[in-house]
Amino acid sequence: MSEYFNVVDIFGENVFNDSVMQERLPKKVYKRLHEVIDEGKELDLETADVVAHEMKEWAIEKGATHYTHWFQPLTGVTAEKHDSFITAPMKNGKVLMSFSGKELIKGEPDASSFPSGGLRATFEARGYTAWDCTSPAFVRQDAAGATLCIPTAFCSYTGESLDQKTPLLRSMEAIDKQSLRLLRLFGNTTSTKVMPSVGPEQEYFIVDREKYLKRKDLIFTGRTLFGAMPPKGQEMDDHYFGAIRERIAAYMRDVNKELWKLGVAAKTQHNEVAPAQHEMAPIYAECNVAVDHNQLTMETLRKVAGRHGLQCLLHEKPFAGVNGSGKHNNWSLTTDDGINLLDPGETPHENVQFLLVLTCILKAIDEHALLLRASAADVGNDHRLGANEAPPAILSVYLGDQLGDVMNQLISTGIATHSIEGERLETGVKTIPDFMKDATDRNRTSPFAFTGNKFEFRMLGSQDSVAQPNIVLNTIVAEAFAEACDELEKAADFELAVHDLIKKYAVDHQRVVFNGDGYSDEWVEEAQKRGLPNVKSMVDAIPAYTAPESVAAFEKFGVFTKPELESRVEIEYETYAKTINIEARAMIDIAGKQIIPAVIGYTTALGTSINAVKSACGDADLSAQTDILKETSALLSETKKALTKLIEVTDRGSELEEGREQAVYYKDEVKSAMDALRTPVDKLEMLVDKDVWPMPSYGDLIFEV
Ligand code: ADP
Ligand code: MG
Repeated sequence: MSEYFNVVDIFGENVFNDSVMQERLPKKVYKRLHEVIDEGKELDLETADVVAHEMKEWAIEKGATHYTHWFQPLTGVTAEKHDSFITAPMKNGKVLMSFSGKELIKGEPDASSFPSGGLRATFEARGYTAWDCTSPAFVRQDAAGATLCIPTAFCSYTGESLDQKTPLLRSMEAIDKQSLRLLRLFGNTTSTKVMPSVGPEQEYFIVDREKYLKRKDLIFTGRTLFGAMPPKGQEMDDHYFGAIRERIAAYMRDVNKELWKLGVAAKTQHNEVAPAQHEMAPIYAECNVAVDHNQLTMETLRKVAGRHGLQCLLHEKPFAGVNGSGKHNNWSLTTDDGINLLDPGETPHENVQFLLVLTCILKAIDEHALLLRASAADVGNDHRLGANEAPPAILSVYLGDQLGDVMNQLISTGIATHSIEGERLETGVKTIPDFMKDATDRNRTSPFAFTGNKFEFRMLGSQDSVAQPNIVLNTIVAEAFAEACDELEKAADFELAVHDLIKKYAVDHQRVVFNGDGYSDEWVEEAQKRGLPNVKSMVDAIPAYTAPESVAAFEKFGVFTKPELESRVEIEYETYAKTINIEARAMIDIAGKQIIPAVIGYTTALGTSINAVKSACGDADLSAQTDILKETSALLSETKKALTKLIEVTDRGSELEEGREQAVYYKDEVKSAMDALRTPVDKLEMLVDKDVWPMPSYGDLIFEV
């Protein structure tokens, strides 16, 4: 039995957080640094030097030998380059450990190998990482020893962002400024900052590592490219919220412990719908911290799995036929003095400020649905959004009974006079206390749902960074707030003007509200009638980034320049084509080197044994054996043909010039050739002797963890 620990003692022990800084930094330096963090003042080198020194001393006490600027390039994962603290050996042959303010503030990794989408030619390799002092540094302890990780932004020599962090911070400034304008209109003079709060719920699969290592498709692509359905899938719903098995529980415990040490407030964990699928959620945090923490969470989930002989699959669709994994992005706006702008209060119909915030958000979602859809696109997520899986690719907003009713009142009479109240929940069992129900039930099928005092954006893919969706959300809501404030600040009669504006927004954007079943076919039809876009693939979602209304919103708040957006579009197309190319090549490899040889072996052995039986017993009924042999041979021939075709199609794809056209080609041509190869192979798996099949089956992978 592993040792017990007290969470309070270990929580944040590896984070250079505020209490550590307060304790270790001279008062003056601490105060100065806070002016930088809280008020955005410029950091002087003298302060940086002191902070760096103390940070190093603290890290060394934790066993750190190296430091790294930890950043988030456009690869979707984090990047780091490690430097040790040692200085050049002295005359006596000894070294000192040093870390300067300069080294803390600025790093210069070779940027040429990170995606830049043409923003930077390879010969202009300079890229800088710059300290983001609003997200605390931390020490990571693992097989590499202990490393001081400094969250940074990453940009090119000419200042264009090459990462997720820079635009995220810019978007947070935008929403801060516009939210404060709005609050001031309602007489709030005390709040000085408004931050988006984000709580991402992370889904993942866990499989046995030894079995994983026998699946080349999982190793190379993170998902299975072949695999027949096991006799049992998720139809019994017996995994969802089921008791967590010991092996998984021990793993989760370790994950939590690691995360707590890093200051990630891991809170909830449970089994998800599909067998071998699980979920974890932290307590929400400020947007940029939440983004960092989600990266750390994914990293930790992967790393700790190895220690337990397990493998964590973060891909959106590791297995066909059972649910895939997503990420729910819970989002709200909170002031520095604790006011949640998305809290409707007991009587939302009277809460004019809330109604304005709400209708502004509806406007933002309606006007930028395509952009928001694009922000949730990644290659793996194409198996969910717009495929036969939840959530649908149509952006709609669920408000629930209470707010839906308030909206209807606004639309029909121009004034909301009452709010539906929650009722008592009576179980009929005396010993179970009755309690007040929420005024609104849940709707799990909505891609953008109001859940009490926050919105939950449910389209995100499980392995994607949550940066992009939050950049978009912050920006489009800032834009809506700005437009509302522009009108209201010049209004002669504020009460009247705000009332009219709320009604106008409610009427103009009611089409985006949908409280019904988002998974139904009727909704797809209805949405089309309402003119809501339904974009089914990443390739078709990408152009939204550079649509005129998107460029206008991003440029208005300095979140992205047009060239930055164009570069991101290039990167997305490239990523798409490269990913599908890898999948196709992996299939070619597996089919050619593992599956076809195995099936040939099987048919040969079967043929031999048919002959043997025939000679031993001439009138034996051999129809079963010969039928299987015929069927297997036919499928084998189909497999071979499909393989040849896939090779052809993929070779052609690799020769195309990178960009939209290539991505479209991979989506249309290569993917269908991949499907055509998978079909006969999955049928073969059902016919051929299990012992000859060259890899573990779906059943082995998802039921035997
Ligand atoms: P739900 O049951 O609505 O899914 P949970 O309480 O399980 O909500 O929380 C899901 C995630 O939402 C958690 O990460 C939680 O911290 C986060 N969350 C809760 N309140 C807020 C809020 N006001 N803003 C942002 N995230 C929040
Ligand atoms: Mg949720």
